[in-house]
Amino acid sequence: MIVGIDLGTTNSLIAIWENGAPRLIPNSLGEVLTPSCVSVDEDGSILVGRAARERLQTHPQHSAANFKRMMGSDKTVYLGKRAFRPEELSALVLRSLKEDAEAALNQPVTEAVITVPAYFSDAQRKATRAAGQLAGLKVERLLNEPTAAALAYGIHLRDGESKFLVFDLGGGTFDVSVLDLFENVMEVRASAGDNYLGGEDFVSTLVDRFFETAKVPEALRSDARFMQGLSAQVEQAKRALSDSPRTVIQARDGENEYRMELDEAAFEKHCALLLARLRSPVERALRDARLPLAELDNIVLAGGATRMPIVRRMAARMFGRFPSCEINPDEVVALGAAVQAGLKMRDAALDEVVMTDVAPYSLGVSTTVRIAGDQFSHGHFDPIIERNTVIPVSRVKRYYPIQDNQKVVELQVFQGEARMASDNIKLGELEVRLPSGVEDRGVDVRFTYDVNGLLQVEATVIATREVFSLVIEGNPGLLSEQEIAQRFSALSELKIHPRDRIENRTLVARAERLYQHLRGMPREQLGREITRFETALETQDQRIIAPAAKAFREVVDYFDHQSFLLPES
Ligand code: AMP
Repeated sequence: MIVGIDLGTTNSLIAIWENGAPRLIPNSLGEVLTPSCVSVDEDGSILVGRAARERLQTHPQHSAANFKRMMGSDKTVYLGKRAFRPEELSALVLRSLKEDAEAALNQPVTEAVITVPAYFSDAQRKATRAAGQLAGLKVERLLNEPTAAALAYGIHLRDGESKFLVFDLGGGTFDVSVLDLFENVMEVRASAGDNYLGGEDFVSTLVDRFFETAKVPEALRSDARFMQGLSAQVEQAKRALSDSPRTVIQARDGENEYRMELDEAAFEKHCALLLARLRSPVERALRDARLPLAELDNIVLAGGATRMPIVRRMAARMFGRFPSCEINPDEVVALGAAVQAGLKMRDAALDEVVMTDVAPYSLGVSTTVRIAGDQFSHGHFDPIIERNTVIPVSRVKRYYPIQDNQKVVELQVFQGEARMASDNIKLGELEVRLPSGVEDRGVDVRFTYDVNGLLQVEATVIATREVFSLVIEGNPGLLSEQEIAQRFSALSELKIHPRDRIENRTLVARAERLYQHLRGMPREQLGREITRFETALETQDQRIIAPAAKAFREVVDYFDHQSFLLPES
């Protein structure tokens, strides 16, 4: 049996091909979305999914999320005292999904098709394969996420050549891919995106609007508890607007109550700037693919944030027609992975041209920007090679020192997309000595980047032609086969929290998160309820635990819905 897995930044899903159609497999909580979060419990056992996500807030030192963004790097994440590589954390998520599938299918699951973003580099793809191996899975195939989305919509069933555009707006990123299927070979003709545009930005925009409209004192912005609660309310309101035309956002701080009504038209108006930013990656992708809009056979929506009607309308306006959205956008990639798994089992799998010959991140230096007169702003990131540039590539840019008498320039090299250098990943630094008494004080900085991820930085002082250079090793993070084997046995020794107990564990984790959030009487009440439930769990007697869990869930649900609106005592 080959399964299809969407190993996502926020959530992961597993699906199988069954009776001629793909089917999602729910986890032990009965949910198809398993948060890509890992946490180590007090007894050293591993929690994956919702319980781990709850513990991100209550036990941040023992919990991790967003590690997909670190794949292919040699970053280390500590959960308590134990160090994990990004592949290992991904492997724990994969292992949990594999166990869910095995429990549902009642047979061992050993092979998988795993999806990756189209722009993943060779190193990121190798790290994903390693994660599969560490989870005890043979990775039959890595499949591009947009290809998976197109497969879920049956691109392979069309006659002749077909061209799809996949519009994927997730929690934090926006990706547009133009796909071309010809003679059973799928090619990503172009991809473009915005690494800093996603569903979370709609929440931040509404939070700002709430402060203005409901006249919330600005000082509350530094109150973490208030901000956390407000963001949760706003997230709920955003989702509510996907199903109904209006909603209300309420928040309370002590005796003060704040409130804002919101309907679709106002939501659209507040988020106009974000919606406008969707346009340029679409235009860029179509231009790079040299395709007029009219030649697209289908436009497919993926990513949870495309559930927002305002986003769908914007897409419809841009494309002059309604995009396909019959399949849940947060499930479409996993379903497509299962379609590929099904094709593979029948020996009819689609082939793909994989684009790994692009720079996955922008590479540049930290610079100082003159604001006015002698006013400067330091630490701005200035890209020299931009993300998605075809490699190998060599680019040069000229820089000047800010001070007339400056003797040294410290070139700091970064990778990433953030505006400020310190928000990106620092790769190295190079000291460039400047001669005095010369007219041209410029320095040419050349970046040369190759397929192995090797970055060569060369700074040439114009006046003297003196050259300073630095070589930054590519892909420092990859594991050898031998290391994978060693880590596999180390990882296998870690106990994953027993499946049959995960529901109650998740409930306790959620209650602990709420406990931190509350103050005064409600906090005391909830604290007592947690202790009472833990006492019931200690009996290990299902006849006591089951009714206690039911009652405890009702209490937790009550506090969860009311927590932000309740007065403190
Ligand atoms: P993904 O990364 O694809 O899981 O997308 C997650 C994003 O989708 C988050 O920003 C969610 O807030 C958003 N999202 C999920 N469901 C909905 C919904 N029903 N309405 C609006 N946004 C949603």
